[in-house]
Amino acid sequence: MQNQRVPGMAEGVYLDYASTSPLDPRVRDCMLTAMDDKAGFGNPSATNHAYGQAAGAMVATAAQQVAGLVNGDPELLVWTSGATESDNLAIIGGAEFRRGRGRHVIAVTTEHKAVLSACDALEHRGWSITRLQPDADGLISAQQVADAIRDDTTLVSVMHVNNETGVVQDIAAIGERCRAAGVLLHTDAVQSAGRLPLDMQSMNIDLLTVNAHKVCGPKGIGALLLNPTTIRRVEPLLFGGGQQRGMRPGTLPVHQIVGMGEAFRLLSGEMADEVPRLTKLREQLWSGLSQLPGVILNGHPQQRSASILTVSVSGVEGESLRFALRDIAVTSGSACNSATAEPSYVLRALGHDDVLAEASIRFSLGRFTTGADIEAAIDAFGTAVRHLRAVAATGAASEAA
Ligand SMILES: *Cc1c(COP(=O)(O)O)cnc(C)c1O
Repeated sequence: MQNQRVPGMAEGVYLDYASTSPLDPRVRDCMLTAMDDKAGFGNPSATNHAYGQAAGAMVATAAQQVAGLVNGDPELLVWTSGATESDNLAIIGGAEFRRGRGRHVIAVTTEHKAVLSACDALEHRGWSITRLQPDADGLISAQQVADAIRDDTTLVSVMHVNNETGVVQDIAAIGERCRAAGVLLHTDAVQSAGRLPLDMQSMNIDLLTVNAHKVCGPKGIGALLLNPTTIRRVEPLLFGGGQQRGMRPGTLPVHQIVGMGEAFRLLSGEMADEVPRLTKLREQLWSGLSQLPGVILNGHPQQRSASILTVSVSGVEGESLRFALRDIAVTSGSACNSATAEPSYVLRALGHDDVLAEASIRFSLGRFTTGADIEAAIDAFGTAVRHLRAVAATGAASEAA
C-alpha cells in the first residue's frame, strides 16, 4: 500500500495532510460495502428489527476500532460531525456538566480555533477563561497548568500535537496534575492519532477528540471519547430524538462511521511501520530545506510529530513565497485557520513578527507521501527562495542606484 499513488488522485505533490488527507482505497471499499449491504441501510436505533440490528452491529464494530487505538471505552464514544463538533461538545458540554464545581476553564493560546472559539462562547456566558502562553518552542509545562488551576476550575484543554507546528505536548504529565486536582482534561488528538501512542487511561485524559479525515478516512465524521472512570456524560449541544444517550441526537451516518472505524483499524495495524517511515521522510525534508540560509524550524526540534514540519524564511515576502510554491500543495503561515489572510496566531505565539509568520510554510506528510515527493518539495522550495531573494536584491540595488 505504501509508496503507491491513490487511484484517481490528481498529479502533483500533496504535502497538506494536516488539512485533510486522501481517502484510503481500503476505507472506501468498506464504506461501499456498508452502503451496498441489503440490511445495513437500517437505522441503528431501530433495534427491534433485522435492518436496525445490522446497522447497529456495524456501528458497534466501528466504535471498538476507534476506541481500540486510544484505549478508550467503545460504550462511551459519542459520534459527531468531526473534530470541530467534538471539541465544542467536550468544552461546552463537559464544562457545563461540571459547572457545580465552578465556572473557570483553562486552554492554551495555540489550540485549534474549534477549542478557542468554544472557550470564547463560554466566556460570553459568563465563564472565566485562562489562556496559557507557550514558550518559544511552542511547549507548555505541566507546572504552568498546575499553577493556573483554581478552586473553581472545571476543565483544562490541551492538544496533543499542534496542527500548525507539529509540537507534542506532554499530555501524560499534564493529565497527572489535572487528575490530582480533580479537574477534567480535554485533549484534541486529531493530529496525534496514529502518529503517537495514545492511551486515555494511563495519560489521564477525560475527554478525547478525534476525527477521520486527517487519517485517510471520510470527511464529516468524528468522535468524542469519555473516560469511564471520571465522566460518563456531557451536556448536549443538540436536542432531538435522544440517540447516543441524548448527548448527541440524530440518526447515525452508518457509512461514515464504518469508514472511520476502518481508518482507525488501519492506524492500529500500521503505526509501528508508518511512524518510522514518516520520521525518515520528515528528516529528509528538513535536511534539504535547512541547506538554505535563513530557514528556521518552528517549534521544538525534538518534541515533534513525524508528520508535520513548519519553516519560516527570512528575507522573502509571504505572499510571493506562496505564489512561487503554488505547484506543491502545502499550507502557508497566513492560511492555516481561516479564509482571511491574517498571519497565523500560532506562529505569532512562538514570538514571530507578522512578516516572518507570513513567510512560513507547513509541510505535512502522510500515508501516500514518497521520498520523490519530498525531493520535489525541496527543489521547488529552494528554487522559489533563491529566486525571490535574487529579485529582492536586484530591487534593492536599483533603488540604491
Ligand atoms: C482539522 C482539525 C480540527 C477540525 O477537524 P474537523 O473534523 O475538520 O472539524 C480540529 N483540531 C485539529 C487539531 C485539527 O487539525
